Order: sequence, then structure tokens, then C-alpha cells
Amino acid sequence: MATIEERLSQLRGQISSIARSCDRDPSRIQLLAVSKTSPVEDILAAVAGGQQAFGENYLQDALPKIHALQHLGLEWHFIGRIQSNKTRDIAGHFSWVHALHDFKHARRLNEQRPADLPALNICIQLNLTGERSKGGIGADELPDLLEKLQDLPHLELRGLMTMPPASADEKLQRQVFGQLRRLLQQMNDRGHRLDTLSMGMSGDMQAAICEGATMVRIGTAIFGPRKNK
Ligand SMILES: *Cc1c(COP(=O)(O)O)cnc(C)c1O
Repeated sequence: MATIEERLSQLRGQISSIARSCDRDPSRIQLLAVSKTSPVEDILAAVAGGQQAFGENYLQDALPKIHALQHLGLEWHFIGRIQSNKTRDIAGHFSWVHALHDFKHARRLNEQRPADLPALNICIQLNLTGERSKGGIGADELPDLLEKLQDLPHLELRGLMTMPPASADEKLQRQVFGQLRRLLQQMNDRGHRLDTLSMGMSGDMQAAICEGATMVRIGTAIFGPRKNK
């Protein structure tokens, strides 16, 4: 079996060739390595392979890893579901939050962001297919939430995030990702300055990249299949 370093380098090659195949500049696509459930040793292997940005879903698992690797200056992204009683630790330990969809959480993160850290980068999660199992707001709620977030100085509004239904149907994936891209464009036409489309995982990165992803969140293709959690 390939090592984590080998899989990373293979994945970077894949991302570049997908990007070129749909006329995109590969350098515009950032790779976020999703290290949820992966131990510190695996993260270190990815760091050795040149990876600096990591995504975590579960705060209790993430904090010990963040502490253990503090000396490396890695960039940590919180990509999981936000709970009110966890916002202080999220605000204190992460550079990015990808799945914001509740103004109450935003207000707490803003208040709790330590003064010595730069503003917390935020992506808003959209739920474009109405799946009950997934978080996120509907497209119709976005303008209002964006407006309200502008008043929070310790949050830096960066973009939008979504997850399509788990399906191998690339046409469906592209529909959802394309919708997110158009939404971002609409918001920028209204004067916002969003530069991030956080979309694409191991199983749908081709569709996401061709629809304009600027950050793909990849776990399995780097670290291998996760044990059940
Ligand atoms: C787990 C997870 C990923 C990575 O998924 P893979 O299929 O392992 O690449 C990306 N985004 C979110 C929000 C996740 O929870």
C-alpha cells in the first residue's frame, strides 16, 4: 500500500490534471487535508509531504492533536458541525470555520476570538438539496445572513461551502457545485468580496474542481478509509 506521502503527491497530481482538463489554473485550488480520526503520526507524515492545512470535525479529537503539533505552525480548519458550547475552543484554536450557518454561533465566535489572533476566516454552509441529515441554510437565507455577519469584526467572511448528496452521479454533483458557484457570484455582484468555494471531497472532487472549487477537503484519498466513528 502507498504511504501517506505518496498518496498526497499522487493526489496533487490528480488535482492539477483535473484542473487543466477543465481549463482551470491548478494553483487556484488549495488542498485541505481532512485529518479527522487520523492520529498525530499520520498528520506528521502529511506534513513531511509538504501539507500545512488540516481539517477536523470533532473538537475533542482535534484539540490534543493541535496541542501536540503546536510547534509546527500548521493551519487548522474546523469543518464539523458547530455546537454552542464549543465555540470558545473553536475560536481559540482554528484559523478557519467552514460550516457556519447560524448567526448565534457567529456572534459567539466573534466575541470569543482571542484579541491577539487575526480574524477567523468563515465559510457559510449551504444546504442546496434540502437533505435533513445535513446542516446549512437555503440559498434564500444567504443574503440576510451575510448582511448580519458584516457587523462582526473578528470574523472574516471568505466564502461558501456545501456537500452534495452522497451519490456517484457526477451530473448531480456538478449541479449542486455549480449552484454554489453562481450563488457566490451573485453575492459578489451585490458587493461582497467572497473568494472561497469550499467544495469537493475524495468522491466528488472532479465535479467540484470543474465547477470552480478553490478549496477541496480531502480525507480518505490521503489517509485511507476511516474506521467507523
Ligand atoms: C470527512 C469530511 C471530508 C472528507 O471526506 P473524504 O470523503 O474522506 O475525502 C470533507 N468535508 C467534510 C465536511 C467532512 O466531514
